[in-house]
Amino acid sequence: MPEAPEVEAVVRALRPLVNGRTIRACRVIHPVATKPQSPGDLGKALRGNRISEVTRRGKYLLLKLSRGSLVFHFKFDGQLLWFDRPPARDVHVDVFFFLDRGILGYADPRHLGRANWAVDPDKVPGLRALGVDVFSRGFTASALTNILSGSRHPVKLLLMDQKKIAGLGNIYSSEALWHARLDPRRIARRVKPAESRRLHKAIVSTARRALECCCHPAPDFRNPDWWFADLSRILRVYGQDGQPCRRCGGRINRIQLGGRSSYFCPRCQR
Ligand SMILES: [Zn+2]
Repeated sequence: MPEAPEVEAVVRALRPLVNGRTIRACRVIHPVATKPQSPGDLGKALRGNRISEVTRRGKYLLLKLSRGSLVFHFKFDGQLLWFDRPPARDVHVDVFFFLDRGILGYADPRHLGRANWAVDPDKVPGLRALGVDVFSRGFTASALTNILSGSRHPVKLLLMDQKKIAGLGNIYSSEALWHARLDPRRIARRVKPAESRRLHKAIVSTARRALECCCHPAPDFRNPDWWFADLSRILRVYGQDGQPCRRCGGRINRIQLGGRSSYFCPRCQR
Protein backbone atom coordinates (compact mmCIF):
# COMPACT_ATOMS: atom_id res chain seq x y z
CA MET A 1 0.00 0.00 0.00
CA PRO A 2 1.38 3.42 -0.84
CA GLU A 3 2.44 5.13 2.38
CA ALA A 4 3.43 8.79 2.77
CA PRO A 5 6.77 8.41 0.89
CA GLU A 6 5.10 6.87 -2.16
CA VAL A 7 2.27 9.42 -2.22
CA GLU A 8 4.76 12.27 -1.74
CA ALA A 9 6.76 10.98 -4.72
CA VAL A 10 3.54 10.97 -6.78
CA VAL A 11 2.77 14.53 -5.68
CA ARG A 12 6.18 15.75 -6.82
CA ALA A 13 6.03 13.98 -10.17
CA LEU A 14 2.44 15.08 -10.82
CA ARG A 15 2.87 18.78 -10.05
CA PRO A 16 4.52 19.85 -13.31
CA LEU A 17 1.92 17.93 -15.34
CA VAL A 18 -1.26 19.33 -13.82
CA ASN A 19 -0.50 22.59 -12.00
CA GLY A 20 -2.49 25.43 -13.56
CA ARG A 21 -4.45 23.10 -15.87
CA THR A 22 -8.22 23.23 -16.12
CA ILE A 23 -10.44 20.15 -15.90
CA ARG A 24 -12.67 20.14 -18.98
CA ALA A 25 -14.60 16.97 -18.18
CA CYS A 26 -14.31 13.63 -16.49
CA ARG A 27 -15.47 10.20 -17.56
CA VAL A 28 -16.11 7.52 -14.97
CA ILE A 29 -15.61 4.01 -16.34
CA HIS A 30 -16.12 2.16 -13.03
CA PRO A 31 -18.47 4.11 -10.71
CA VAL A 32 -17.19 2.21 -7.66
CA ALA A 33 -14.09 4.43 -7.85
CA THR A 34 -16.04 7.59 -6.97
CA LYS A 35 -18.34 6.11 -4.31
CA PRO A 36 -20.29 7.45 -2.48
CA GLN A 37 -20.27 10.26 -5.06
CA SER A 38 -22.18 9.61 -8.27
CA PRO A 39 -20.23 9.99 -11.53
CA GLY A 40 -22.69 12.72 -12.53
CA ASP A 41 -22.07 14.74 -9.37
CA LEU A 42 -18.31 14.33 -9.70
CA GLY A 43 -18.39 15.51 -13.30
CA LYS A 44 -20.56 18.51 -12.48
CA ALA A 45 -18.29 19.53 -9.59
CA LEU A 46 -15.08 19.25 -11.62
CA ARG A 47 -16.04 20.79 -14.94
CA GLY A 48 -14.24 24.09 -15.55
CA ASN A 49 -12.27 23.82 -12.32
CA ARG A 50 -8.64 24.90 -12.38
CA ILE A 51 -5.96 22.93 -10.55
CA SER A 52 -4.00 25.31 -8.38
CA GLU A 53 -1.95 22.97 -6.22
CA VAL A 54 -1.01 19.32 -5.69
CA THR A 55 -0.61 18.34 -2.04
CA ARG A 56 -0.60 15.38 0.29
CA ARG A 57 -1.99 14.68 3.72
CA GLY A 58 -1.00 11.34 5.18
CA LYS A 59 -1.69 8.81 2.43
CA TYR A 60 -4.17 11.08 0.63
CA LEU A 61 -3.32 13.06 -2.47
CA LEU A 62 -5.23 16.29 -3.07
CA LEU A 63 -5.63 18.42 -6.16
CA LYS A 64 -6.62 21.83 -4.89
CA LEU A 65 -9.08 23.37 -7.34
CA SER A 66 -10.48 26.83 -7.89
CA ARG A 67 -13.51 25.39 -6.14
CA GLY A 68 -13.02 22.52 -3.69
CA SER A 69 -10.50 19.69 -3.98
CA LEU A 70 -10.18 16.41 -5.80
CA VAL A 71 -9.14 13.84 -3.20
CA PHE A 72 -7.47 10.51 -4.01
CA HIS A 73 -6.85 7.59 -1.71
CA PHE A 74 -4.92 4.80 -3.39
CA LYS A 75 -5.47 2.00 -0.83
CA PHE A 76 -3.46 -1.06 -1.96
CA ASP A 77 -2.55 -0.40 -5.54
CA GLY A 78 -4.48 2.55 -6.89
CA GLN A 79 -2.37 4.65 -9.24
CA LEU A 80 -2.40 7.71 -11.46
CA LEU A 81 -1.73 7.55 -15.18
CA TRP A 82 -1.05 10.19 -17.79
CA PHE A 83 -2.10 10.18 -21.43
CA ASP A 84 -1.44 12.70 -24.17
CA ARG A 85 -4.42 11.26 -26.06
CA PRO A 86 -7.19 8.76 -25.16
CA PRO A 87 -5.59 5.33 -24.63
CA ALA A 88 -6.40 1.98 -26.22
CA ARG A 89 -9.27 0.15 -24.60
CA ASP A 90 -7.20 -2.55 -22.95
CA VAL A 91 -5.67 -0.10 -20.45
CA HIS A 92 -7.47 -0.34 -17.11
CA VAL A 93 -8.63 3.12 -16.09
CA ASP A 94 -11.46 3.81 -13.64
CA VAL A 95 -11.79 7.57 -14.10
CA PHE A 96 -10.48 9.87 -16.84
CA PHE A 97 -9.95 13.54 -16.08
CA PHE A 98 -9.69 15.46 -19.33
CA LEU A 99 -7.56 18.55 -18.82
CA ASP A 100 -7.07 21.43 -21.22
CA ARG A 101 -3.82 19.67 -22.04
CA GLY A 102 -3.45 15.95 -21.42
CA ILE A 103 -5.56 13.37 -19.64
CA LEU A 104 -5.12 12.24 -16.04
CA GLY A 105 -6.28 8.70 -15.33
CA TYR A 106 -7.07 7.07 -12.03
CA ALA A 107 -6.80 3.28 -11.99
CA ASP A 108 -7.27 0.71 -9.29
CA PRO A 109 -7.87 -2.84 -10.53
CA ARG A 110 -8.98 -3.94 -7.05
CA HIS A 111 -11.41 -1.04 -6.78
CA LEU A 112 -10.59 -0.28 -3.14
CA GLY A 113 -9.25 3.24 -3.59
CA ARG A 114 -11.34 6.32 -4.25
CA ALA A 115 -11.39 9.58 -6.20
CA ASN A 116 -13.84 12.14 -4.81
CA TRP A 117 -14.51 15.82 -5.02
CA ALA A 118 -14.96 17.69 -1.74
CA VAL A 119 -15.95 21.32 -1.33
CA ASP A 120 -13.88 21.42 1.87
CA PRO A 121 -11.37 18.60 2.41
CA ASP A 122 -11.24 19.43 6.12
CA LYS A 123 -14.76 18.05 6.34
CA VAL A 124 -13.88 14.71 4.73
CA PRO A 125 -13.99 12.31 7.73
CA GLY A 126 -10.77 10.43 6.87
CA LEU A 127 -8.85 13.68 6.35
CA ARG A 128 -10.27 15.53 9.30
CA ALA A 129 -9.24 12.72 11.64
CA LEU A 130 -5.60 12.57 10.53
CA GLY A 131 -2.93 12.93 13.19
CA VAL A 132 0.43 14.66 12.78
CA ASP A 133 1.97 14.01 9.36
CA VAL A 134 5.15 11.95 9.42
CA PHE A 135 6.92 14.45 7.11
CA SER A 136 5.71 17.55 8.94
CA ARG A 137 7.65 19.78 11.31
CA GLY A 138 5.09 18.96 13.94
CA PHE A 139 6.28 15.36 14.05
CA THR A 140 8.94 15.86 16.70
CA ALA A 141 10.46 13.49 19.23
CA SER A 142 8.30 14.95 21.96
CA ALA A 143 5.16 14.66 19.79
CA LEU A 144 5.93 10.96 19.40
CA THR A 145 6.58 10.56 23.12
CA ASN A 146 3.19 12.15 23.84
CA ILE A 147 1.44 9.85 21.39
CA LEU A 148 3.08 6.76 22.91
CA SER A 149 2.55 7.74 26.52
CA GLY A 150 -1.21 7.75 26.25
CA SER A 151 -1.68 4.26 24.81
CA ARG A 152 -1.91 0.69 26.04
CA HIS A 153 -1.73 -0.66 22.50
CA PRO A 154 1.29 -2.34 20.93
CA VAL A 155 3.62 0.36 19.61
CA LYS A 156 3.39 -0.95 16.03
CA LEU A 157 -0.39 -0.49 15.92
CA LEU A 158 -0.03 3.02 17.21
CA LEU A 159 2.48 3.89 14.49
CA MET A 160 -0.01 2.68 11.87
CA ASP A 161 -2.96 4.53 13.39
CA GLN A 162 -3.61 7.40 10.94
CA LYS A 163 -5.40 9.36 13.66
CA LYS A 164 -2.13 9.50 15.63
CA ILE A 165 0.57 9.65 12.95
CA ALA A 166 -0.53 10.23 9.36
CA GLY A 167 1.33 8.50 6.58
CA LEU A 168 2.94 5.42 8.11
CA GLY A 169 1.68 1.97 7.13
CA ASN A 170 2.66 -1.62 7.67
CA ILE A 171 5.95 -1.53 5.77
CA TYR A 172 7.65 1.57 7.15
CA SER A 173 6.41 1.07 10.71
CA SER A 174 7.97 -2.42 10.66
CA GLU A 175 11.19 -0.98 9.26
CA ALA A 176 11.37 1.90 11.73
CA LEU A 177 10.88 -0.47 14.67
CA TRP A 178 13.73 -2.65 13.40
CA HIS A 179 16.04 0.36 13.10
CA ALA A 180 15.04 1.46 16.60
CA ARG A 181 15.57 -2.10 17.94
CA LEU A 182 12.07 -2.17 19.44
CA ASP A 183 9.73 -5.16 19.55
CA PRO A 184 6.53 -4.23 17.66
CA ARG A 185 4.46 -5.77 20.47
CA ARG A 186 5.83 -3.46 23.16
CA ILE A 187 3.06 -1.60 24.96
CA ALA A 188 3.33 1.97 23.75
CA ARG A 189 3.21 3.73 27.09
CA ARG A 190 5.98 1.50 28.47
CA VAL A 191 8.42 2.64 25.82
CA LYS A 192 11.10 4.61 27.68
CA PRO A 193 11.94 8.23 26.71
CA ALA A 194 15.34 7.26 25.28
CA GLU A 195 13.73 4.50 23.21
CA SER A 196 11.05 6.87 22.02
CA ARG A 197 13.71 9.34 20.81
CA ARG A 198 15.48 6.49 19.03
CA LEU A 199 12.18 5.47 17.43
CA HIS A 200 11.50 9.02 16.28
CA LYS A 201 14.88 9.18 14.60
CA ALA A 202 14.29 5.79 12.99
CA ILE A 203 10.85 6.81 11.66
CA VAL A 204 12.15 10.05 10.17
CA SER A 205 15.16 8.42 8.52
CA THR A 206 13.13 5.45 7.26
CA ALA A 207 10.54 7.75 5.70
CA ARG A 208 13.21 9.98 4.13
CA ARG A 209 15.12 7.06 2.70
CA ALA A 210 11.89 5.62 1.29
CA LEU A 211 10.99 8.95 -0.30
CA GLU A 212 14.44 9.16 -1.85
CA CYS A 213 13.95 5.65 -3.24
CA CYS A 214 10.42 6.42 -4.54
CA CYS A 215 11.69 9.53 -6.38
CA HIS A 216 14.58 7.72 -8.11
CA PRO A 217 13.33 6.83 -10.58
CA ALA A 218 10.28 9.10 -10.38
CA PRO A 219 6.84 7.59 -11.00
CA ASP A 220 6.30 7.26 -14.75
CA PHE A 221 2.59 7.98 -15.21
CA ARG A 222 2.90 7.45 -18.96
CA ASN A 223 3.57 3.75 -18.46
CA PRO A 224 0.24 2.07 -17.54
CA ASP A 225 2.17 -0.58 -15.59
CA TRP A 226 4.37 1.81 -13.63
CA TRP A 227 4.97 1.15 -9.98
CA PHE A 228 7.51 2.27 -7.44
CA ALA A 229 11.03 1.06 -7.89
CA ASP A 230 12.09 -2.06 -6.07
CA LEU A 231 12.24 -1.05 -2.42
CA SER A 232 13.97 -4.24 -1.34
CA ARG A 233 17.32 -2.43 -1.28
CA ILE A 234 16.13 -0.38 1.70
CA LEU A 235 13.94 -2.97 3.47
CA ARG A 236 15.53 -4.81 6.39
CA VAL A 237 12.66 -6.87 7.85
CA TYR A 238 9.44 -6.37 5.92
CA GLY A 239 8.52 -9.54 4.01
CA GLN A 240 11.74 -11.26 5.08
CA ASP A 241 10.53 -13.90 7.51
CA GLY A 242 13.00 -16.76 7.86
CA GLN A 243 15.89 -14.62 6.61
CA PRO A 244 18.85 -13.78 8.85
CA CYS A 245 18.72 -10.39 10.57
CA ARG A 246 21.28 -8.04 9.02
CA ARG A 247 22.21 -6.68 12.41
CA CYS A 248 22.53 -9.74 14.64
CA GLY A 249 22.10 -12.80 12.44
CA GLY A 250 18.90 -13.85 14.27
CA ARG A 251 15.91 -15.10 12.31
CA ILE A 252 13.28 -12.61 11.13
CA ASN A 253 9.86 -13.67 12.43
CA ARG A 254 6.43 -12.97 11.07
CA ILE A 255 3.58 -12.49 13.52
CA GLN A 256 0.00 -11.26 13.26
CA LEU A 257 -0.63 -7.95 14.97
CA GLY A 258 -3.95 -6.19 14.59
CA GLY A 259 -4.83 -8.45 11.67
CA ARG A 260 -1.70 -7.54 9.71
CA SER A 261 1.57 -9.36 9.22
CA SER A 262 4.38 -7.89 11.24
CA TYR A 263 8.06 -8.67 10.73
CA PHE A 264 10.77 -8.34 13.34
CA CYS A 265 13.90 -9.87 14.78
CA PRO A 266 13.13 -11.28 18.24
CA ARG A 267 16.82 -11.39 19.10
CA CYS A 268 17.69 -7.73 18.71
CA GLN A 269 14.30 -6.01 18.87
CA ARG A 270 13.34 -5.75 22.52
ZN1 LIG B 1 18.45 -8.96 14.85
